[in-house]
Amino acid sequence: EQRDRKILHEAHDYAARYYHYLLLNTEFGRAAKAYLRDRGMTDKLIDQFMIGYAPDRWDALTKFLEKRDYSLSLMEQGGLLSAKNDGSGYVDRFRDRIMFPIWDRDGKVIAFAGRVLGDGQPKYLNSSDSMLFHKSRSLYNFHQARPSIRKSRKVVLFEGYMDVIKAWQAGVHNGVATMGTAFTEEHAEIMRRNADEVIICYDGDDAGQAAALKTIPMLEKTGLRVWVALLPGRKDPDEYIAEYGPQSFLREIMDQPVSVTKFRLIFLRKSHKLLEEEGRKNYVLEGVRIVAELDSPTEREFYLKELSREFGLTLDVLKQECFQIRETMRKVHPQRDKDEQSWNNGMNEG
Ligand code: ATP
Ligand code: MN
Ligand code: MN
Ligand code: MN
Repeated sequence: EQRDRKILHEAHDYAARYYHYLLLNTEFGRAAKAYLRDRGMTDKLIDQFMIGYAPDRWDALTKFLEKRDYSLSLMEQGGLLSAKNDGSGYVDRFRDRIMFPIWDRDGKVIAFAGRVLGDGQPKYLNSSDSMLFHKSRSLYNFHQARPSIRKSRKVVLFEGYMDVIKAWQAGVHNGVATMGTAFTEEHAEIMRRNADEVIICYDGDDAGQAAALKTIPMLEKTGLRVWVALLPGRKDPDEYIAEYGPQSFLREIMDQPVSVTKFRLIFLRKSHKLLEEEGRKNYVLEGVRIVAELDSPTEREFYLKELSREFGLTLDVLKQECFQIRETMRKVHPQRDKDEQSWNNGMNEG
């Protein structure tokens, strides 16, 4: 209901400022402040991203909201509080956590992500979905990044909040992240409405790279042009910047994204033992399979050439291989065949 939404917006705004105040100006926030300093977070970033601290108490925010006459049951529905198990009242949902406010596209706080200080579980606790907050269509930092996204027609997609924040400091002002849950088609649609290109910059570990492979088709489906910025040594952007600095991040990572096909080939390469004959052969065959998916003959030739150089095979042989795969694809997807014939109109197959 409209009235409840308005009240919840207001309460979230209060809560964000309360947590932010506790972090900066009270004894409660001392350890959290030290933790953030340790991770290279400056005062300026803490302010800009309104980072806060939820104290290790059951009733801090609860009392704060109660004093201001908010309905605690509404606050629980909105994800700020939790109901006690015995039904006798409400307690703080976030305790002893670094608080990252999540904004909607207009810059209103609609949820929080809370991080433990150190190694506890879960590492991040998010607000649950509510009448204000829908994980499946929220993009962290979208409201601040939007002007830059629309101006450059490019959006950078990170995995984590810290990555967005540190990249922002390095000068990447069109960066967003999902809320830890998977990337959805709704996320892709929001991006499409504001940009023409996406650069995926997920963590360099296996999980991050596998997630990128899943995200790519959803982005491509909307017509966005997709690039992948690769991080060496399983690092995430935050860790990379901490180790090599912002200049290196901009020049070596952000300015050198690879195409989706190149990314798929690099990923494929990692899963094959190239020192063994069988591994090399399978890599080439599966690589050609990836290339065969491309609609443009020029692009196909481009990557086939790279593969042929890599293994000293002739381009002709790889083209033949590719042709055969495409013939098989035709039989499996006859509709695609029709679409393509009207395009290619009898052109030579590569
Ligand atoms: P940090 O740098 O603070 O350790 P991160 O962003 O590098 O965090 P990852 O483990 O790489 O953390 O996870 C990427 C993202 O996935 C996080 O930013 C968060 O949004 C989400 N995430 C991670 N762990 C959890 C969890 N236990 N519950 C919910 N979301 C999580
Ligand atoms: Mn990760
Ligand atoms: Mn990470
Ligand atoms: Mn990290």
